Amino acid sequence: MAALLTLFLSACASVVEPPAPRWSIVVHGGAGVIERTNLTPELEAQYRAAMQRALTTGGGVLERGGSSLDAVEAVIREMEDDPLFNAGRGAVFTAEGKNELDASIMDGRTRAAGSVAGLTRTRHPISAARAVMERSRHVMLIGEGAEAFARSQDLEQVEPSYFFTERRWRQLEENLRRNNLPIPQRPAGAPPAPRAELTYPDDHQFGTVGVVAFDAAGNIAAGTSTGGTTGKRWGRVGDAPIIGAGTYAQNGVCGVSATGTGEFFIRVGVARAICARMEFNGESAQAAADNVIAEVGATTNASGAAGDGGVIVLDGRGGHAWAMNTSGMYRAFLQDGGEPEVYIFADEEE
Ligand code: ASP
Repeated sequence: MAALLTLFLSACASVVEPPAPRWSIVVHGGAGVIERTNLTPELEAQYRAAMQRALTTGGGVLERGGSSLDAVEAVIREMEDDPLFNAGRGAVFTAEGKNELDASIMDGRTRAAGSVAGLTRTRHPISAARAVMERSRHVMLIGEGAEAFARSQDLEQVEPSYFFTERRWRQLEENLRRNNLPIPQRPAGAPPAPRAELTYPDDHQFGTVGVVAFDAAGNIAAGTSTGGTTGKRWGRVGDAPIIGAGTYAQNGVCGVSATGTGEFFIRVGVARAICARMEFNGESAQAAADNVIAEVGATTNASGAAGDGGVIVLDGRGGHAWAMNTSGMYRAFLQDGGEPEVYIFADEEE
């Protein structure tokens, strides 16, 4: 009898879920080949501080009772201004030497969404994406038209050279040399090339930013912003501005933001696939994230390369998960009353 009672009690305990946080926020700053050997202690400290700042900004909005959409937008705007990240200022360059910026945002309450691709003059692409969602009848705008819309909404415009950073320019030069492509002129308005040979220990192209937030009203929002991939050509657009690939949010189910080689994330429909597994299969956020990242890794392109990248996820009650098949992903999590968690390397939490 006692044994039966113990069995009954432990069965009950295993189905009791942990109490939902009042609010929570999860942030990424890009996934890729991030190894201890190619990140100097100074740069590592800068990234950790930036991720911590993101939590402080987003947590502040949510603690004051702000909406998840406001938290997502506020954090991404700050990261778009930070040259460490491949979004807004500090974005990677196209083969023609331009910064073409993509972003998207989704409101889990109504599944309203907005996105922009190929912006070159709007300082905060995430705000342009939000304006598309809230002030147009459309979901996705691209190029000149998207820019004209952003201007019409009084969103801050800047000279294209505002987005220029020496670090990303060097990455472009290396990329074009490797691919035997011509190196374009430095963009008009960019500072003159420094005479001293600069070294950038972390020379890989990552730093897309993404945020998923859960607010005190139970609403989930997700957003993603990127400059795409170094040396991109022909108006290439990745997954970040594609709803269902790079970004998804649905109240009571999930919120997702992805980072990685966008072509694979589009083909797998990553963000929506994670939410669908949670909604229809009853998978946990962690199981769904792991399963879909495994699918990405099992997908190859014409050159035989496999998909690489990572995701951050919140479940319908604000619990978080993340998954990656790269050696690192800048990632951070905070919930009300909790301690901030900031990680870079894939093996850091073991
Ligand atoms: N997913 C982005 C893209 O393909 C790049 C990244 O996340 O690093 O445009």
